[in-house]
Amino acid sequence: MCADRITAEQRSRLMAQIKGKDTKPERVVRSLCHAMGLRFRLHRRDLPGTPDLVFPKHRLCLFVHGCFWHRHGCKFASIPKTRPEYWSQKFEANSRRDERCINKLKLLDWRVDVIWECELKDLDRVKQRIQSLTAPLH
Ligand SMILES: [Zn+2]
Repeated sequence: MCADRITAEQRSRLMAQIKGKDTKPERVVRSLCHAMGLRFRLHRRDLPGTPDLVFPKHRLCLFVHGCFWHRHGCKFASIPKTRPEYWSQKFEANSRRDERCINKLKLLDWRVDVIWECELKDLDRVKQRIQSLTAPLH
């Protein structure tokens, strides 16, 4: 393996971590999909919102969202006590962007689903959902 490539890979992994990509919940979903024998692409930048997993054959984009950053209405989506205004603005911007991206994808004829971090506690259920989402389209 060429040394430049390793460096580039390491760098991109680092960048990904900084940008919140390649987070643990995403890795869980990714390996689940692998185990299911599905074929997908990661982080397609040419699509709105850079969906975490893209299944071209099924015309499906999956986002794996952390409950805190993306404001799932669950117990993990607490608001920090310090600087609440700062956070609520940030969170609002996140939610708006998520919504905008999902709408754009739908306009481009993609099906979109969001898997929330907290849902990964029941992997069987997530698996069933992905199975039905990737069932033959007709
Ligand atoms: Zn949640």
